Amino acid sequence: MRVNNIHCRCTCGFRAIQPEILPMVLELEWVIKLPITVMTMCRCPTHNLNEGGSNDSGHMGYYEISMNTAKWTNHKLKYQEKMVVCAAVDCTCRNNKKLFKEAKKMEWNGVIWYPKKNFVHLDLKPRKNPFYRIIE
Ligand SMILES: [Zn+2]
Repeated sequence: MRVNNIHCRCTCGFRAIQPEILPMVLELEWVIKLPITVMTMCRCPTHNLNEGGSNDSGHMGYYEISMNTAKWTNHKLKYQEKMVVCAAVDCTCRNNKKLFKEAKKMEWNGVIWYPKKNFVHLDLKPRKNPFYRIIE
């Protein structure tokens, strides 16, 4: 896995990610057996707006956790205090169709494949219903 950008690409300095997200990308990489490049993670609300992201984008800080008080319970991390982190990742590989197909089988809360822009958006933001879409 190659990670090109964790931090917001404007000058705000926002750089905090949901800790399960990169291990899940690694797991996906293992499943598809192709190297994955992470293109985008954190976006502040201003940068998200400039990039045309949705107003509930998982790239923006939303997920409230604290690493200091995180505890493992039944093999899941439980968080007790509040901090804003990014929980979405835009990534690409040599076969994004396969990446999309396999990501849908995992516990992502949203998977969007952009064939023309050549990347897949993976989202861990908690939602009532996971979404799976192809956007031309
Ligand atoms: Zn920013």
